[in-house]
Order: sequence, then structure tokens, then C-alpha cells
Amino acid sequence: MTYLESEQREVRRCRDETHAVLETDVCIVGGGIGGIYAALASASLGRRVVLADGAAQLGGLTYNANIGSFCGFYSNGPDREGCRPLTRLFAEEMFADLEKMGSAFPRYSSRTLVVPYYDLGFLRWAEHKMQALGVRVLLGCLVSGVCREGRRLTEVQFLSRYGPVSVRAASFVDASGDAALAWAADLPCQVSAADVLGSQVFVMGGIDCTDPPTTEEINLRAAEVGRQYGLERLKGVFFYMPVHGGLLSVNMTHVPTPLDPVAASEVTMTGKDLTDRVAAFLRQEFPRHFGRGEVVKYGETGIRQTRSVAAVHRLKTEEILEGTVFPDRIARCAWPIELHNESAGYVWHTFSDDHVHYIPLASLLSPELDNYAAAGRCIDADTAALSSVRVMGPCAATGTAAAYALALAGSGSVHEIDIARLQQQLAPNLQD
Ligand SMILES: Cc1cc2nc3c(=O)[nH]c(=O)nc-3n(C[C@H](O)[C@H](O)[C@H](O)COP(=O)(O)OP(=O)(O)OC[C@H]3O[C@@H](n4cnc5c(N)ncnc54)[C@H](O)[C@@H]3O)c2cc1C
Repeated sequence: MTYLESEQREVRRCRDETHAVLETDVCIVGGGIGGIYAALASASLGRRVVLADGAAQLGGLTYNANIGSFCGFYSNGPDREGCRPLTRLFAEEMFADLEKMGSAFPRYSSRTLVVPYYDLGFLRWAEHKMQALGVRVLLGCLVSGVCREGRRLTEVQFLSRYGPVSVRAASFVDASGDAALAWAADLPCQVSAADVLGSQVFVMGGIDCTDPPTTEEINLRAAEVGRQYGLERLKGVFFYMPVHGGLLSVNMTHVPTPLDPVAASEVTMTGKDLTDRVAAFLRQEFPRHFGRGEVVKYGETGIRQTRSVAAVHRLKTEEILEGTVFPDRIARCAWPIELHNESAGYVWHTFSDDHVHYIPLASLLSPELDNYAAAGRCIDADTAALSSVRVMGPCAATGTAAAYALALAGSGSVHEIDIARLQQQLAPNLQD
């Protein structure tokens, strides 16, 4: 056939047409860091995995919101060598691979080891992993409903631009960030009484990365002259990435993150207006390094904390401060309480070098379901506690723990698994 002979063929929607139904062992909703680690862990146990996300790309905030740095994977310490890895399962491999790819740039900062990363490198790493492990990835698929039989979910329904698709599974991980699966299943959920702000983060290109200004220097200048540029937030976070001649991830705005589709869409534009003011401030006040800087990527609205599942146990701030060692602990972290609840700055409560706090399995489990576990930033914690355990290290660790716990439960109840066995599997994330 030549192009001259090509013709259109008439098609019409058939209302009775059956839609695709996938059968699998575990269905994970949300392809951010929590969901990706849940998929890595589930697939490594030989389980068949469907990983579904409403966005057009994998990666959640880690890729789509320009977060720019992996935090919460290491303990605090007096220097780089003194920071112990707290989340190791799949993370050691990820960091090694990203460093090999030239996409990870670990550095000692805020008394711990943080790992700034190039987001494209991370995305491709995650995609290659999913392909290699045979994880079936569904993108552009938003949860539209669930089927539930007694204490078990049996199916999640999704809507996509190409029509509906359903996934039937033995177990389900809610790594949606907003507890979207719990919400669709009519499970009790919780939101913070006071607003927790998100951020529109942007990437600046065309910068000079030699001996660049530190975060402290930029924040000092912002405190002096930021208001003249219309800046509302005067304390930012900046990560340099030595790729493409030098990129800077700039996190210096605060925006509301409502769970309302109309208001949430509006923030995607007002947030960018705020970042443009930050870019003007950086260009003007630091001409040697940023004078020729351009915004090269805005990204999605960065959402910190919205809706969580109401689980068997709500992790409390006191338990974080005291480092409570729960009998059913499944993850740990030493990241500060980092609560963004005011427009100009944020609460930053740091911990000593020997401090570690733990997350119990009970903060992932719904009292109403036997085959559901939350992971990532929608686990159950009070507002300040969540502001610590929502960084990527513990999100990755809860994803791993949710996967292992559900695999141990099999067709039984995740509430009745052998915790000692689970902790044995999770030992690299629980012991030094
Ligand atoms: C501005 C900002 C800066 C931050 N800085 C850092 C930092 O420097 N270091 C760090 O470690 N952490 C940082 N964090 C925290 C961290 O990035 C997030 O808490 C973490 O990435 C959350 O991962 P997650 O997998 O739980 O959720 P997400 O990354 O939010 O992933 C959830 C996924 O679920 C999908 N989803 C949601 N609803 C549905 C639905 N109904 N149907 C289908 N799919 C759905 C979404 O599309 C998304 O891909 C920052 C957060 C913000 C907002």
C-alpha cells in the first residue's frame, strides 16, 4: 500500500465491549519511590506485579516534581564516613547504578549523607528495573473504583484515556501519596488539621557550577532582599547537578496542595509564577553563577502531605522524638522533623548522631482489610511525624516492607504474619 491508497476506516464505540482485566499477585497503586520499591521487592520474591499510576510517567514526585535529592537513607554523623546507611535493601544497588550512570552525587550536608541525583537518570534506572523484573507498568491509569469482598480487596478499576482497565490481585499496595486506594475503598483516612504546604520546584540551566554559592549564602541574601522580588518563602533548598553544563534544582516556594481538582489545577500555574520570581532573584543577586540561568523545567506541583490511611497505629511525634523501638518495626530513619506549615519558612528539628526512629508495620495496615498495605507518604503518622518519615529513604523502606508483609500473608491476613520472619527479611533496613 502506498500513502496515496491509505484510507480512513470508520469506527464507533461499542458500549457492550468488555474491557481489559489483568490478573496478578500484587497490584501497586502509585509509581513514586514507595511504589517502585514495593514493585522491586515484590518481583524479587517472584510475585507477578502490576504497577499502576495515573501520571504519564513513572517516578511520582521523585521524577515529576524535580525533588533533586534522596534524603533519609542515612543516619546523622560527624562526617560523611560516620553516616550509616539505614535503608539498604534495593537502595545500595540503586545508588551504585546511579553513580555508575553519572546520575548520583552524594554529599555530606545537614549532618547526614544526602544524594542529589539527575532525575532522568533515576527514571531510566527505574524503567529498566521494571522491564528486567517483568513488572507490568500501567501508566495514565487513575483509580476509579474497587471491588471488596469482606476483609479483602479483590479488584481495582482504573480509567485511562484509552478506556477502562481492571486489575484483580491477591494483595494491594497503596503507594498513591494521597491514599487514593484507601479512599476509593471507603476506608477511614485522615488529613492534617492545619495546612501543610507543598512547593513548586524548578530546574535552572545555563548556570556556572564552579564554586557556587551555598544554600546558607543564598538564604541570607533572600532574607535581606527577597521581599523586593516578591518572594514569600525566604529559606530555600538548592541542589547542584553537574550534568548538561550544570543544573540547579531550586526549592524556594510554598504553595497550597488542595485535594480538589479545580484548585489543584490552578496551583500548577500560580506556583510557576512564584518560581519565576525566585529565578529573577537568583539571576540578579548572584550574577556570576546564575546571571545567564534559565528555567529549563518546572515539573509538577510538589505535594508534601495530603491524605493518609487511618491505620492500626498512628505514628506520633513523641515516638519519633524518643526513637520508640516498636516490636513490629519495619523501617527506620533519622531525618529531621521538616514541617512546612508557614509560608516564609519551615520547622527544622534535627536529631543527634546516634538517634534513629522507627516505623511500625501497624502504621501501614488498615484495620478493615487483610490484603492491603500503605507505603510512602500516605502511611499513618501525625502531621509532624509524617514530615520526617515522608522523605524518600523511609518511603522506599515502607514500600519494601509492604511488599514483603503482603507476600508473607499470601491468601491469609497481613495482620497475622510472623513478624520475626518479616524482620529477618528486612534486616538490612533494621540493623547496622
Ligand atoms: C517540594 C518537595 C521537596 C522534597 N524534597 C525532598 C528531598 O529533597 N529529599 C527527599 O528524600 N524527599 C523530599 N521530599 C519528599 C519526597 O519527595 C516524597 O515524600 C516522596 O517522594 C513520596 O513518594 P511516594 O511514592 O510516597 O509518593 P509520590 O511520589 O507522590 O507517588 C505517588 C504516585 O501515585 C500516583 N497516584 C496518585 N493518585 C492516584 C490515583 N488516584 N490513581 C493512580 N495513581 C495515583 C501519582 O501519580 C504518583 O505518581 C520532598 C517533597 C516535596 C513535595
